[in-house]
Amino acid sequence: MNNVVDLVDDFVSLIYPRYCMGCKGDLRKGEDSLCTRCLSELPKTNYHLYPDNPVRNRLAGRLPIRFGWAYLKFRKSGIVQRLLHQLKYQNAPEIGTKLGLVFGHELEILTLSSCFDLIIPVPIHSERLKVRGYNQSAAFADGLSQGMKVPWSESVTVRRTYASTQTRKSRADRWDNVKDAFVINESSLVYGRRVLLVDDVITTGATLEACGQHLVQCGCRELSVACIAEAQ
Ligand SMILES: [Zn+2]
Repeated sequence: MNNVVDLVDDFVSLIYPRYCMGCKGDLRKGEDSLCTRCLSELPKTNYHLYPDNPVRNRLAGRLPIRFGWAYLKFRKSGIVQRLLHQLKYQNAPEIGTKLGLVFGHELEILTLSSCFDLIIPVPIHSERLKVRGYNQSAAFADGLSQGMKVPWSESVTVRRTYASTQTRKSRADRWDNVKDAFVINESSLVYGRRVLLVDDVITTGATLEACGQHLVQCGCRELSVACIAEAQ
């Protein structure tokens, strides 16, 4: 039976060649989205090993957070920038899911997954969702959920303003842009829960702060934050 599955796999690979999204090299059997070499060379922060780390410190005082993590370091022209660009603009949600899965496994091994009841992705506006076809942070949440065996929900939070891109804004402008952007749809799912709020990139932290404040107001028992990457 396995031979038949392998044959089908080989046949599918012939018709749809599968490439690593990090280096564009061919993927081998058992690999998906990223080759073993790219996976092993990802520039990890390892912030989850240090309670006192730059992401947590960036948000402390603005949000009552327990853990603050970014999985990877974002460098201009590096592999993380290439992966995030494909995730956001080239119809590749599988990158977010893959990175969530591998990070989720690392957290699971350290039993950190037992610290959470629910994973919530920062939402994008419905108009942006229509254009992109998916929420890149939800893809990351989905992968984390699989790796950590913690449920996730995309329906808890809603983004009500179609904010222009944050990329070239100052810290004050970013806050003005997002401070009223979110509403909580299902506060009963948040109340009393230990929530892990996730996003693709943390820059100033304004988006996470705005969304996180609503979760705190809805009575989540504990709030933590995890991002794919930290921009310097
Ligand atoms: Zn590769």
